[in-house]
Amino acid sequence: MKQEKSFYLAPYDLNKVFEYFKSRGYKVFGPTIRDEAIVYDEIASVDDLPVGWMDEQAPGFYRLKKRNDKAFFGYVVGPHSWKKFLFPPVLTLFEAKRENGKFKVYDVNTANEKYVFVGVRACEISAILIQDKIFGGGQYTDPNYIKRRGNVFLIAVNCTEPGNNCFCASTGTGPRVVAGFDVLLTEVIRDDLHYFIGVPGSEKGEEMFVTLGFREAEEFEIKEAEKDVNEAINKFKRSVDLTDAVEVLQENYENPLWEKVSEKCLTCGNCTMVCPTCFCNTIEDVTDLAGQVAKRIRRWDSCFTMDFSYIHGGSVRYSVMSRYRQWMVHKLSTWKNQFGMLGCVGCGRCITWCPVGIDIVENLKLFKESTVKL
Ligand code: SF4
Ligand code: SF4
Repeated sequence: MKQEKSFYLAPYDLNKVFEYFKSRGYKVFGPTIRDEAIVYDEIASVDDLPVGWMDEQAPGFYRLKKRNDKAFFGYVVGPHSWKKFLFPPVLTLFEAKRENGKFKVYDVNTANEKYVFVGVRACEISAILIQDKIFGGGQYTDPNYIKRRGNVFLIAVNCTEPGNNCFCASTGTGPRVVAGFDVLLTEVIRDDLHYFIGVPGSEKGEEMFVTLGFREAEEFEIKEAEKDVNEAINKFKRSVDLTDAVEVLQENYENPLWEKVSEKCLTCGNCTMVCPTCFCNTIEDVTDLAGQVAKRIRRWDSCFTMDFSYIHGGSVRYSVMSRYRQWMVHKLSTWKNQFGMLGCVGCGRCITWCPVGIDIVENLKLFKESTVKL
């Protein structure tokens, strides 16, 4: 059956999309190659995308490799996530200046810019929805996050080739994009074909398709795209049953296995920096040497640092084991008690970017096996 409102875009039609938003005051951010990795940064045109590149991933391993086609979105996910735009690594919350013998406080929040995010995957949308709950739900909300989030136009892309470390099918957060987008693209690439099927997910998305005059997609064009997305689910190399993860990890809190699974950990914090859902931060107050200007700065922090759990007299989580346990139990267990969902969307970044290849999926399996034997 031909779906309602599916549009056909030729590859370079994406430039029209970018120009449409730029002329309306948006900054366009998307995947691009920098320092031999695919990162998210401002892009000017399709030529900035990682055209014809893919990423090879394994525990503690990431390399770019040439594809044998010109796919625009033929990679999986890199070290960056969209949280760097919504929850910036360093943010000045306010600035105070000494004026006429008094301090005057200035709001330096510059979150008025409008953003287009291009190429957001299903797992990444789920991560954004998790951070929406953290920063925008409950009694205490973060006005910086909410302001930024309200200014995003989100162009999602369906995954058709999961990477070696992906397990979003196990977390129920992919590979198909189902919600949370303004526009959803599916890239179809064959020897003789290259196009996108575009579907609007909001009024703004629909308006864009209509204004740019893209034609509706033909039934066979939609079918090819559907075939690729349906087949993606069978291409996963990793899976884990997470139905009992909350209980398994809490029941095994004192299991000596924690020493084994964390013995290689360097407490570098890479896993928390690359994770699209990790939200820990710290506040620093700084002044200039003349004592004329003071700033309150928020920075990303990590539960892997000793300082993170410092209270009067010392750190609560002194050992490497206790810090690794805190992180993994929070992600796959206590996060659910806290927010009603797991803190992991199965993107695999923590596995890829851990310098010693510590693997959250394999470690959970060890605890599950250990529980059975007890
Ligand atoms: S815990 Fe690891 S796999 Fe899960 S969302 Fe974070 S980085 Fe991705
Ligand atoms: S698990 Fe890996 S990435 Fe995370 S802190 Fe330890 S060594 Fe670093």
